[in-house]
Amino acid sequence: MQRVVILGGGTSGWMAANLLRRHLDAHRFDITLVESPDIGTIGVGEGSTPHLKVFFDELNIPESQWMAACNATYKNGISFVNWTSHLESNRYFHPFPSFTDRQTAAAFLTHCHLKFKGIDAPTNPDQYFLSSYLSQHHLSPKVAPGKTGAPLNYAYHFDSTLLGKYLQNIACKEGVTHISNKVQDVAQHPDGRIASLLFEDGGVVNGDWFVDASGFRSQLMQQTLQVGFESFSDNLINDSAIALASHDISPISSETTATALNNGWAWRIPLTNRVGNGYVFSRAHCDFTQAEAELRAHIGDDASGEDARHIHMKVGQVQEHWHKNTIALGLSQGFIEPLEATALHLVLETLISFIANFKQGECVDADRKAFNQHMSRRYQGIRDYIVCHYKINTRSDTPYWQEVKRSVPISDNLRAVIDAWDAGQDITPTLQAQEMDKYYPAVSWYCLLAGYGRFNKQTRAPSAQAKHTLKQVQAYIAQSSAQFMSHATALTHA
Ligand SMILES: Cc1cc2nc3c(=O)[nH]c(=O)nc-3n(C[C@H](O)[C@H](O)[C@H](O)COP(=O)(O)OP(=O)(O)OC[C@H]3O[C@@H](n4cnc5c(N)ncnc54)[C@H](O)[C@@H]3O)c2cc1C
Repeated sequence: MQRVVILGGGTSGWMAANLLRRHLDAHRFDITLVESPDIGTIGVGEGSTPHLKVFFDELNIPESQWMAACNATYKNGISFVNWTSHLESNRYFHPFPSFTDRQTAAAFLTHCHLKFKGIDAPTNPDQYFLSSYLSQHHLSPKVAPGKTGAPLNYAYHFDSTLLGKYLQNIACKEGVTHISNKVQDVAQHPDGRIASLLFEDGGVVNGDWFVDASGFRSQLMQQTLQVGFESFSDNLINDSAIALASHDISPISSETTATALNNGWAWRIPLTNRVGNGYVFSRAHCDFTQAEAELRAHIGDDASGEDARHIHMKVGQVQEHWHKNTIALGLSQGFIEPLEATALHLVLETLISFIANFKQGECVDADRKAFNQHMSRRYQGIRDYIVCHYKINTRSDTPYWQEVKRSVPISDNLRAVIDAWDAGQDITPTLQAQEMDKYYPAVSWYCLLAGYGRFNKQTRAPSAQAKHTLKQVQAYIAQSSAQFMSHATALTHA
């Protein structure tokens, strides 16, 4: 019997417990999860990508079982508001691209290419994607019973504390041992592998394999094993967040909103019983008191009386995600600010990749190396997409917005994409050559660059053909939307 020990009972620890239990033979692997109620969890992280659906599908847990228990709602995508100052519309929508978008997305890309040539074609992505329409009309991404629409790619919003409890319940029922105790010390074998976790009260838990899901403190990977940390703070300068609930939920929106404020941006995540709000900002530009005042003013009276939580963020990734007999997971392995809600997506990818290695049997150094390289590139790929938001937005009304555009360095990969776009080229080959389309598909990059109106050619008269095509696209989208349930109805079905 081999013993797998997970340190941490936040979302990532309980996701690991469930997925490992599902995939590792119960006769050969014993799984224990250790957490400390004194330390608690981060208590934020309430928006997902479509990968969370993959996770629940892996566990055979239908939406009707988990969504109501976690006050969850559907998410069609993210609206970015007030990130531009030079466009008529200061918002754009980033959809989760779906197969059903293939024709409308093609029209969108063609119109971007026309604009490169100085022809005035409509290029706000909001007009070209079904999920954007669904979101604007408070519709869900779920096809109504009896209708025949093709399923869309979608994600969720959820209460992170309730999700943790839900996953704990399932894991324990499936035989995961749960220990509530604080790890004070860690014992290692002579070769450096972790041997056991030692508790405050003198207790011990031994293991053959360890998952460090201990949050930003990264007790095993960074503290005990002294694995280095590659900071992203040079090009992602936000290092703090404030979280604050509000109550006016009607009608329940089916999108996350990310609104640019003076020193960062605010999220708005609708749940069935409350709205989760937060402000991600840079402490070099404003302190917690100022940021809280700005967030409260942004939300309005609806959050008065609610306590705000102040959170310090460590942005970057560990230099090795798998070291000796330990893998780092969740905040312990790294964090990219939550603008595209990618953290749990990375947790799932880490687990799937680790399990695939593990199931092959004997893991050698080459496996670890390949795994670490894969995860590291994954983090860097997502970082580049997030950095692009800061580099190409057109706000310049505060020192913060001036600094993020002027002095923040960008990777060579991102530079190549922006240069190709500015030169009026189709950016797909550049993304493919650098394997960046593995992290965000080309259409997401087009949404980002066109959404912020980054077109540098003076445009001539509007193209009648492009206008006509857009009309057809919009008629098609409106017609397709009739297949989908209202968000409120879909939540009663879930
Ligand atoms: C401001 C902000 C917004 C975010 N928004 C999103 C989002 O929209 N979408 C998304 O996917 N992610 C988001 N995230 C990330 C998300 O919150 C985390 O990835 C997720 O909650 C998982 O956290 P975790 O389990 O790794 O760590 P934590 O929740 O911090 O859990 C750590 C666990 O380790 C335990 N522990 C630590 N040390 C010890 C010890 N010595 N002994 C015993 N137990 C110990 C703690 O008790 C706890 O159970 C956000 C993060 C931040 C900071």
